[in-house]
Amino acid sequence: MFHSSQQAALEALDQFMPHAGEAYARSRNYEYGPEARINVSSLSSWVRLRLIPEWQLITAVLDHHTVSQASKFIDEVCWRTYWKGWLSRRPSVWQDYCTQLAKDQVTAGDLPRYVEVISAASGIECFDAWTRELIDTGYLHNHARMWFASIWVHTLQLPWTLGADFFLRHLLDGDAATNTLSWRWVAGLHTVGKTYLATADNISHYSKGRFNPQIKLATVPVDVTDSAPNPPAQPYERLAPIPSCKHVGLLLHEEDVSALSWLYDQAEVRATAGFIPQDAYQRHRITQSVFDFRHSCLCEASDGGAVVHTDLDAVVEWAVAAQLDLVLMAEPAVGIWDQVVLELRHGLQQKSIQLAFKRHWWDEHFYPHAQAGFFRFKKAIPAALDQLVK
Ligand SMILES: Cc1cc2nc3c(=O)[nH]c(=O)nc-3n(C[C@H](O)[C@H](O)[C@H](O)COP(=O)(O)OP(=O)(O)OC[C@H]3O[C@@H](n4cnc5c(N)ncnc54)[C@H](O)[C@@H]3O)c2cc1C
Repeated sequence: MFHSSQQAALEALDQFMPHAGEAYARSRNYEYGPEARINVSSLSSWVRLRLIPEWQLITAVLDHHTVSQASKFIDEVCWRTYWKGWLSRRPSVWQDYCTQLAKDQVTAGDLPRYVEVISAASGIECFDAWTRELIDTGYLHNHARMWFASIWVHTLQLPWTLGADFFLRHLLDGDAATNTLSWRWVAGLHTVGKTYLATADNISHYSKGRFNPQIKLATVPVDVTDSAPNPPAQPYERLAPIPSCKHVGLLLHEEDVSALSWLYDQAEVRATAGFIPQDAYQRHRITQSVFDFRHSCLCEASDGGAVVHTDLDAVVEWAVAAQLDLVLMAEPAVGIWDQVVLELRHGLQQKSIQLAFKRHWWDEHFYPHAQAGFFRFKKAIPAALDQLVK
């Protein structure tokens, strides 16, 4: 369903384009099933990697629709930036999730429901269908993700961390910020006093009768207060300017494959390579198909010319062989790269090579606003759109 190429992404965008205006706002909540899904873009696997970055996606949509017609779609695209910005201001939420997950994983095998659920054998027809779709395609419609997470947390009463982990391992668009924070929202940890409870009527209505759950879904949310509440936002910090070094190498990675187009002219680059950290994917038990998809996308974005490494030592060897004194990267988002950054910085430092990051203007513009809720964040959208048309 999702091919690891820019052409496939652009074809999907073309196909979706007529639906990105008011039709999207009206119909996006309907889940017609994988065969009939024309009401949402299904672009997230590529947008996640910035094979189609947010600014390019919105620019393309505004060539066909007015801002007011496309406002719902633009909002949704900006939700991704909001979650990333929000987590960048509270990185301990990801670390706490990882710690809690490690604890929950120890006892997961003893939870009979967990084993049934992840094998698509929960006995709940809709839930098992979504599990199979997730495993087979690496994608779920947004409403199905909400229903799934709600049933997982509130009806089956399984730890939310295990559900978030199950998604992160299988989703092609799996992303630490959007995924962790959406699961926390469903569980009632993101917005105090707000949980998401799926109902049979809602599922039946928005699946157009494909599913009519007969089991009793939870009507009262579970208490998840054993998980840490939201910490206050850290002050927004700009990145340090890129040090002026003579021998600069550009390291592309799967967190932002668009970097070649905006980072290359930030310094005099003498060598370029790609890197997707296979160890980190294995540590987080992310499926091979997700890794392969991202690896192929990165290889394509590297323009065929740059070697794409999967091993950190090989990156350090590349930097040494190219006689670099600085390796420059697009700033990776908070998530599975946290540990990789520490290891990479250390490995390069041993060879007297610096590591520096650059944040795209899109993130620079939005992250300072990712302090509280989306409503306040959203007020920064018009200024970003002005920047796009300049
Ligand atoms: C429990 C749960 C877990 C989720 N985990 C992820 C995840 O790991 N990665 C991920 O990309 N999305 C995640 N989402 C958000 C959302 O479900 C997907 O982004 C969306 O379904 C992607 O499908 P689409 O491309 O057809 O979206 P469209 O409706 O066509 O939206 C266009 C683009 O906007 C962005 N977008 C849309 N909705 C959201 C949203 N709610 N939050 C953030 N960005 C959004 C995506 O980049 C998407 O490609 C999660 C939602 C829930 C409820």
